[in-house]
Amino acid sequence: MENCLFCKIIQGDIPSAKVYEDEYCFAFRDINPQAPTHILLVPKMHVANIGEACTLPAKVQTALFAAIEKIAAAEKLENGFRVVSNCGKDACQSVNHLHLHILGGKQMSESMS
Ligand code: 5GP
Ligand code: ZN
Repeated sequence: MENCLFCKIIQGDIPSAKVYEDEYCFAFRDINPQAPTHILLVPKMHVANIGEACTLPAKVQTALFAAIEKIAAAEKLENGFRVVSNCGKDACQSVNHLHLHILGGKQMSESMS
């Protein structure tokens, strides 16, 4: 997808701190971390947000969930972590390429909004 920031990061046209990559997924550190560990996990295939995730092939969907587990283990998030995906205007989604925020490394608040 032209002019998509995360497509450019996946392609290496824009540098990022990569933490994980496989055939279907790419993960890198958020440039403005909201927790000691703040990673963005994205499918290499462009879809706008989690509201369109069902349009991804099942193998890509599965790979995303498997990647969460691998990243959490690699980042030693054994005390827990939070996965957030902002979808659309009300959720303040700012980059229109599906991404899962993986947040951890501290005790988080019970509030999620
Ligand atoms: P959203 O607001 O769409 O849920 O999340 C977008 C995230 O992308 C934000 O947390 C923001 O800090 C991050 N971000 C925006 N631009 C860049 C960038 O160029 N590099 C990296 N690593 N993260 C970015
Ligand atoms: Zn994209």
